[in-house]
Amino acid sequence: MKCVRCQQQLSRVVYEEVEIDKCVSCGGIWLDDGELAKIVGATIEIFSQSLITKTLNTVSKGVPQSEKDSVERCPKCSQEMKALNYAYQSGVVIDSCPNSHGIWVDSGELEKVQIFKESQDRDLEKNREDLHKLARNANHAAESDLKSTGLLSILIDFLGKL
Ligand SMILES: [Zn+2]
Ligand SMILES: [Zn+2]
Repeated sequence: MKCVRCQQQLSRVVYEEVEIDKCVSCGGIWLDDGELAKIVGATIEIFSQSLITKTLNTVSKGVPQSEKDSVERCPKCSQEMKALNYAYQSGVVIDSCPNSHGIWVDSGELEKVQIFKESQDRDLEKNREDLHKLARNANHAAESDLKSTGLLSILIDFLGKL
């Protein structure tokens, strides 16, 4: 396979236990379908055609004009690849083959994707903690409500017996 940017032969390298194709000249990386998911440990469903279309329709959110204008072709099927903003909002622009052969990431972008993914995970973790805290507080509130109602009913019982 050849680099989509400088047409150099790509070399197989191992990145985080996944074999990928890297251009030694520009540092760009070709990832076969599913390899990004292996690397970031996420599902690759964001690259479904409908989502790509949706992303391109709201392209002002993240894909710079220069990326939209430059045409990269899939090294496997030579189809024009679509620029998309990874997970819509990361600011990392990657090129995706319309036939789901894989994606092209420029030098340094893969790391950015991973960083973005990690920060997302951290947010998720934080949200989970907040939820737990909320749940605990709600439980406490419910318990103390129960106690006061319990006390009240005993009091009412007691008063009724008088
Ligand atoms: Zn290259
Ligand atoms: Zn392709």
